[in-house]
Amino acid sequence: MRVVICGGGVVGAAIAWYLGLRGAEAIVVERTGIANAASGKSGGFLALDWCDGSRLAALARRSFALHAELAALLPGAGYWRMTTFGGFSGGGRRKAGGWVADGIALDRQLGSPETTAQIDPYGFTTGLMAAAGARGARVVIGTVTGLLHRDGRVAGVDVEGTTIEADAVVIAMGPWSILASAWLPLPVVHGLKGHSLVYETGPMPPEALFLEIGTTGGGTASPEVFPRPDGTTYICGLSSDTALPVDPAAVVPDEGAIDRLRAIAASIAPALAEAPARGGQACYRPVTADGLPLIGAVPGVAGAYVATGHSVWGMLTAPATGEAMAGLILDGVSGGVDLAPFAPGRLPAFDPARLALI
Ligand SMILES: Cc1cc2nc3c(=O)[nH]c(=O)nc-3n(C[C@H](O)[C@H](O)[C@H](O)COP(=O)(O)OP(=O)(O)OC[C@H]3O[C@@H](n4cnc5c(N)ncnc54)[C@H](O)[C@@H]3O)c2cc1C
Repeated sequence: MRVVICGGGVVGAAIAWYLGLRGAEAIVVERTGIANAASGKSGGFLALDWCDGSRLAALARRSFALHAELAALLPGAGYWRMTTFGGFSGGGRRKAGGWVADGIALDRQLGSPETTAQIDPYGFTTGLMAAAGARGARVVIGTVTGLLHRDGRVAGVDVEGTTIEADAVVIAMGPWSILASAWLPLPVVHGLKGHSLVYETGPMPPEALFLEIGTTGGGTASPEVFPRPDGTTYICGLSSDTALPVDPAAVVPDEGAIDRLRAIAASIAPALAEAPARGGQACYRPVTADGLPLIGAVPGVAGAYVATGHSVWGMLTAPATGEAMAGLILDGVSGGVDLAPFAPGRLPAFDPARLALI
């Protein structure tokens, strides 16, 4: 069976990997490059139980276990178990995080090395895609511009005028999945922008931080700081509602955002004030109307599937998404967690006529 996956982010790579494990042929069509969007620029933070009590719980728990398995296969994934703290600016007693500035109070432990970890998102996504390639998956660099229909079902994709035939097609284009509303009855997917920097700090302790920081002007920011085992430290924050560009390669930071993030980073730790940072970057989380991903068959269109809308937990939940989707496509039933909460048909389809207005 041949499956074309539209989009080479972490979700597309995970579906290709689990299809390959089952002996199916996966072709990933990617517009810019594997992991060039959020899947290469996000935090890569993983938590076992932070989704407990929500409909994401089973997907998150299964994925946390799968990440530990995949770490053994993908040495470049940068998998690291961490202790995770919450805190705020304004001084106070610091119970942990000897590397954190005096003005930051870490008042809560949010996770232990048994419950929190991280991956390097770019290393993980490209490593998983390469591993899928070793099992026969192929990457085609090009833009999916439409679907091929035959005998009442989806039978392939159009890539800038060239057809690739397939038994099944998966839309996994992150926030750009909204463009697929022109081809399929899919609910709306929005893009929520975030900014990040990667500092060359040298070795740091395996301690992740989730902070509330007062900013000049009286506002607050909620940066997340993740030291990585390769001697860099990642910081992200400063969400914005700047519109998603149609071309993923055109995503750039908002004006002034990287300078603001630098100032916040410098207030968090001396190491972040002193270390050089790799250029600032921005990316978009794919978000649905009810905050849950869309994972499953597209209602009423044989051969069409969707896997997107993973919002702030896409790096975490990609493996269980891939495992479940491989089973659904090949056997007709989820290959792991129950996908019922994520059924694409639970939300109304977006009117494609409105695409022209976006
Ligand atoms: C600042 C930030 C920090 C984050 N931190 C974390 C975290 O710590 N932990 C966590 O679990 N998650 C985190 N996330 C969320 C996570 O990054 C996303 O949920 C995840 O990367 C989404 O993956 P995806 O494969 O669905 O989409 P993407 O990574 O957006 O990939 C979609 C791909 O589709 C391609 N594409 C688009 N249009 C077309 C087309 N027409 N044809 C072919 N290809 C196309 C794009 O080029 C892109 O490569 C964070 C997100 C942001 C923005």
